Amino acid sequence: MLVLDGKEVSNQVRSSLVPRIAAFKTKNGRAPHLAVIIVGEDAASQVYVRNKKASCEKIGMTSTIHALRTDTTQEELTEMIQTLNNDADVDGILVQFPLPKHLSSDEVLKTVSPLKDADGLTYSSLGYFFAGSPLVKPCTPQGVMTILKHYNINVEGMNAVVVGRSNIVGKPMAMLLSEANATVTICHSKTKNLSQFTRNADLVVVAAGKAQLLGKEDFKKDAIVVDVGMHGSGQGGKLCGDVRFSELQGWAKAATPVPGGVGPMTITTLLENTCLLAEKRANS
Ligand code: NAD
Repeated sequence: MLVLDGKEVSNQVRSSLVPRIAAFKTKNGRAPHLAVIIVGEDAASQVYVRNKKASCEKIGMTSTIHALRTDTTQEELTEMIQTLNNDADVDGILVQFPLPKHLSSDEVLKTVSPLKDADGLTYSSLGYFFAGSPLVKPCTPQGVMTILKHYNINVEGMNAVVVGRSNIVGKPMAMLLSEANATVTICHSKTKNLSQFTRNADLVVVAAGKAQLLGKEDFKKDAIVVDVGMHGSGQGGKLCGDVRFSELQGWAKAATPVPGGVGPMTITTLLENTCLLAEKRANS
């Protein structure tokens, strides 16, 4: 079985961004800039935000963190987003979720300008994306497509199943596979007899958010399996995915591990998207 190494792909993509960022800097007198807003004290979110900043800086991009108090009001958060929307030196804006309970993520997804939406997940961005005219593509599904491309896996004509239909992963994943000429079936929590669908698929992307949901018996021989799931609840508290990866050896043609599969590609695509948005705005 070919292990689809997201870390390796991620390193290659990040390296390829370095000269692009340097060229942008030379031309525009500043580096592409990702602004990250974090509200409150959530420990995991603070780690994610710091990681994003460090990843930006490692390849020569600028990243600023805008930390707001837990009791920030919706109006204050909107104002902060609008300020960044209007700041000519900011290319990408990311609001770290989850937000404290009193704040609406819907409002955030309506406020961030699509011209600066590095995640590609605001309602405007998704509108452009589903209309076939994306500014950038949602990070996680686009990261999956980058992995497939890196390993020369051409999905054209494949029967593909996407397990999950969230706006973040499932729906845009299905769209990208369909655009790449796969025939796509979307399964979800109300699907009856899930494995009847997955067992017939050449490619299965699993994003159900259920630890170790699927194993060997759910895939046909020589299937390609992409596991988007991420859980800290595997054996011994280890990180695991929605798929029982160890069962796939000698059965699947190719599969992504967890950790080290799709995960590293999400943040890499965020960097790529920020760079792309910076270039687009500078050239417009
Ligand atoms: P979500 O909870 O918003 O959506 C889960 C989807 O799976 C839903 O559409 C639901 O209908 C479906 N589902 C749930 N149980 C199912 C079942 N038993 N059978 C079939 N379908 C089922 O989750 P999400 O935001 O789409 O994320 C999915 C998983 O991917 C989570 O584990 C999340 O942590 C992970 N994730 C990873 C990355 C990454 O960078 N690797 C990024 C985003 C999400």
